[in-house]
Amino acid sequence: MNALDAFRRQMAGINDLMNTMSLLNWDARVMMPPGGSETRAQQLGTLAGVIREQLGSSNTQRLLEAAEREVEGLSADAYAVREVRQTRDALETLARIPPELSTKLVRLGSVAQPLWAEAKAQKNFTHFAPALEKMVSLTQELAAAIGYDAHPYDAMLKQYEPGMTSTTLQTLFADIRSSLLPLLERIRNSPTLAPTHIFEQSFPKAQQRAFALSIAERFGFDPQRGRVDESHHPFEISFTRNDVRMTTRYNEHYLPGAVFGLFHEAGHALYEQNIDPTLTRSVLATDLLGMYAVGGTSFGLHESQSRLWENMVGRSRTFWHNHFGELYDTFPKQLAGVDAETFYGAVNDVKPSHIRVEADEVTYNFHIMLRTELEMALLDGSVTVAELPEAWNAKMETYLGLTPPDDSVGVLQDIHWSHGHIGTFPTYTLGNVMAAQFFEAAHEQVPGLAESLERADYTPLRTWLTENLYQHGRAYTPAELLERSTGRALNAEPLLSYLKEKYEALYPAV
Ligand code: ZN
Repeated sequence: MNALDAFRRQMAGINDLMNTMSLLNWDARVMMPPGGSETRAQQLGTLAGVIREQLGSSNTQRLLEAAEREVEGLSADAYAVREVRQTRDALETLARIPPELSTKLVRLGSVAQPLWAEAKAQKNFTHFAPALEKMVSLTQELAAAIGYDAHPYDAMLKQYEPGMTSTTLQTLFADIRSSLLPLLERIRNSPTLAPTHIFEQSFPKAQQRAFALSIAERFGFDPQRGRVDESHHPFEISFTRNDVRMTTRYNEHYLPGAVFGLFHEAGHALYEQNIDPTLTRSVLATDLLGMYAVGGTSFGLHESQSRLWENMVGRSRTFWHNHFGELYDTFPKQLAGVDAETFYGAVNDVKPSHIRVEADEVTYNFHIMLRTELEMALLDGSVTVAELPEAWNAKMETYLGLTPPDDSVGVLQDIHWSHGHIGTFPTYTLGNVMAAQFFEAAHEQVPGLAESLERADYTPLRTWLTENLYQHGRAYTPAELLERSTGRALNAEPLLSYLKEKYEALYPAV
């Protein structure tokens, strides 16, 4: 066996272990009875320890060095070169993080999460504040260990979005603000009222599932290599391209939640199901830093695909003119007297609200800006944890003109900080930005793409996305994929013109 094969065999074993952890995680969130949580945490801890040991072992080190010698001289674009280089980079970053610090962060997460849940239920931020203070200080230690040039936030960002910096984000946010604040003002003053009351009727779960899943399959989701279940927080997770799980949450008295939730997760699933089969169990389908077996190249890139299918396809006028008939046949009584155009307006209702996960396409990015700016301020010390609720409320007023009635719908609304996941929020807006860039490029490059979407034929779009993005797994960085497929760097312009065009038509000026 040559050196590259031996290295790949070692990394395939590590990928198997990570996929096993993912399966245990899926089970914990979908199937496990509450009594299983303590032993499950122990099992996951044991597996994580085995993976860390294998990654840091002298055997892995030796196999990596031999593989590095063997790929010398190959093109920098070759998958083999990228596998080897990404492993080297990840091992160097992991070596910079003291194991005691990782353990402290995991332990604090398990203590902080229930404290956050209690604080949220009691609407009492001070109950969670001491744990959050510890979390911020450990995260500052982690950032220092990983290393950064301009801002501690950069060290956190690069774990989730390689190549992204706080400076780039600030420029992007400024562009988004200057374009979307006037659009939001226009929408606020528009006489248009979306008929959202039609969603608030009885919609049996089985029919919701049947409709949403039939659309996911039309998009290209392969049920032979995936399945759909229920969970409190919807998510997608894959155990190789051959077994991709999605979940959704049904509310029988509010139609859009599960339907658009499933369109969203289907976008994530399409990414994972269309990775080149030769990358299965390889480093290019493994997030070594996150210790997850995942094929998509970054959080933002993954999110770009869920947003593209959920919003740019699933909330488009074309889509509802094609599929409203099927929905109507599923719920003839509830939708009596409603037509496709009315339904299209209703699913694109824009209304500033307190809750991020319920936000529409226009206001969503403000929720992200607010959180990202506060995370940066916490890490550089310009805002203290004690000042956080007030800082949150002030930004909410500036961006969306709202003041949270209490902290449970304000500073305490998201679980992320209790887990120590500081730095993941901006990847949601990056996803929106990149989705619009890819959607625009696909239209420029695929002749007749708009016509195919008008025929509800999603194959040409999915094929372009597979060729340009999905098949490559984690071989290229987000910046490389953007450059290769769109010819441009990260740029908010396509998102901003998409939103402007769509919502100016839906919300005429007074
Ligand atoms: Zn998502």
